[in-house]
Amino acid sequence: MLSIDYLAETEKSKVYSALEFSSAAHKGQVRKSGEDYISHPIAVAEILTSWKLDSKALCAALLHDVVEDTHINVENISSEFGENIANIVDGLSKLDKIKFDTKSQEQSENFRKMFLAMSRDVRVILIKLADRLHNMRTLDALSQIKQQEIATETIEIYAPIAYRLGLNQIYHELEELSFRSLYPNRFHVLSKAVVSARGNRKEIINKIKKSIVECLHHNQIKSTVTGREKSLYSIYKKMLEKKLSFEEVFDIYGFRITVGDLNDCYLALGIIHQNFKPLPGKFKDYIAIPKKIMVINPYIPLFLQIIVCQLRYKFVQLICIKLLSLDSLAIGFIKTTIQI
Ligand code: MN
Repeated sequence: MLSIDYLAETEKSKVYSALEFSSAAHKGQVRKSGEDYISHPIAVAEILTSWKLDSKALCAALLHDVVEDTHINVENISSEFGENIANIVDGLSKLDKIKFDTKSQEQSENFRKMFLAMSRDVRVILIKLADRLHNMRTLDALSQIKQQEIATETIEIYAPIAYRLGLNQIYHELEELSFRSLYPNRFHVLSKAVVSARGNRKEIINKIKKSIVECLHHNQIKSTVTGREKSLYSIYKKMLEKKLSFEEVFDIYGFRITVGDLNDCYLALGIIHQNFKPLPGKFKDYIAIPKKIMVINPYIPLFLQIIVCQLRYKFVQLICIKLLSLDSLAIGFIKTTIQI
């Protein structure tokens, strides 16, 4: 039931024995939503399979709540699954014990530092983030007060950690889910505004996309172009920070262009600049001059190169060329704004 085809047979059977062990330990326990408790560790492990994490990380994910919530202790896990997995589970249990009581920016920063320092094995952080992501996705089952508490902690501690690690997709989802819980009204007003703006701009977006595809194709750059929309929380943040109205936030839509390698990144950028005029001061090359992002490996293979283009409404577009790993683990990108 887990998507672990990328693992060798022996590794797969380890994962399944951890699943069996965890199911037996959590037997009879249910989540607030009424589902069997084991559905949670399974969902966490499933998130990790999309990052192609190794079998030890998946075993630890399946066992991550066993020490907290059942009679099993770390020694039991160690004798059953080895010291390595037991250490990861132990690290996760210890993180659970810290009470993140965020009152100030400075305090949040200290918590984030402490969190990172306590997780010497990067798999601990990744499992913790996946755990939080699943809890946020299923937040509705909890009381209003609990929801607010968890959402605040997520937006102040966990989302910035995901951002710092370059895990953009999870970072945006954590922020979006927190935003929805913390400010349901603002969330709904903005999402309505985006839906109606989407309708009005559809034609121009399609036209721009077509012209990008054509000029890349014309120059024999193998690429795929897909659309993408700025998250509601990013729009909200921009409106707050720059004191803009919704209509003044232009870069709501974007395109993602995927290319095969670094050379094609720069070639594509050159072609874009030849065909569309770049805006002065709106160009950054994070491949040559990397952004300060913590590089985490060796558990996540870095092999995908992606160009990200963001489109600006009203004939202006912002294009980012992004070098990413398997799941948006950014190692650098080129960003340019052009006029069309
Ligand atoms: Mn959990």
